[in-house]
Amino acid sequence: MLDNEVNVLKEHVPTENALNEEVPTVRDGAGDQPALDLSAIDAVVSDMDGVLWRGAEVLPGVAELFGRLRQRSIPFVLATNNSGKEAEAYAERLRGLGLTGVTADDVVTSGSVTAEFLASEYPAGTAVHVLGSAALTAVLARAGFVVEEPGTSLDVDVVVAGIDLEFTYAKLARAMDHLVAGAAFYGTNGDVSLPTAQGLAPGAGSILAALAAASGRKPTVMGKPEPYAFESAVRRLGALPERTLMIGDRLDTDIIGAQRFGMPAALVLTGVETAESAATAGFPTEATFGDLTALSSAWEKALEAAVTKAG
Ligand SMILES: [Mg+2]
Repeated sequence: MLDNEVNVLKEHVPTENALNEEVPTVRDGAGDQPALDLSAIDAVVSDMDGVLWRGAEVLPGVAELFGRLRQRSIPFVLATNNSGKEAEAYAERLRGLGLTGVTADDVVTSGSVTAEFLASEYPAGTAVHVLGSAALTAVLARAGFVVEEPGTSLDVDVVVAGIDLEFTYAKLARAMDHLVAGAAFYGTNGDVSLPTAQGLAPGAGSILAALAAASGRKPTVMGKPEPYAFESAVRRLGALPERTLMIGDRLDTDIIGAQRFGMPAALVLTGVETAESAATAGFPTEATFGDLTALSSAWEKALEAAVTKAG
């Protein structure tokens, strides 16, 4: 009995991405990037937290980089693994940073990716149980799903779990019931922690790990580094993955996910990674930038060099 319990616990020890079949590590893909040619980029997908801002602090070069992209008619999409807020809330913050005209359509959250994916797999009206934020419930309801209301009982086909700042034992038990009864299991993203102004806090991946342990089931995870978020962003841009630049601050989600999806990637050191962690992972220094200002000037230089070469 005791042995059995210990084994169950061991199986579910939360690692950086405890829930995926193939655990991505910084070492297993971050060095596999061909030389970054910024003059050959037609579109951009950028992470937000640690790239555009860190908590309340706006990071250097945001208005400059996105202003230049606009001038050059290079379209962009902003992508986050956080499903705690709706796309419109991010769009509003982005407009406040000077990215005028940005709308919810220019923002991909792990919640919007999950809703899009489920809408492609299940008919409208499918009953869904959400263990997550009000924003996640709203985006799924808007996509045509019938979301089980608290205190009611539906025969649900799908359980979706994500970040929930009001997570409780009772919520865990309810979601577990549906999974044990056979509902399909999806997770918005696997990040076990997330950075806050007060330091690291538990992320969606920790909630998924609890639910996976309780139910003995394993979720299909939607956010970065899984391909669904990149697919959604590239589809919105109407661009080719190999000519779409991913800008991110995390090797294990933004960068590895982009590389696996066939996108070139630029790492900025304003978030999670440091010059040391990037070097240790074998990520090329030519694709590593101190901040967005450094990326902007490298981009200008690459374009000038391309014009000189062509001329
Ligand atoms: Mg980030």
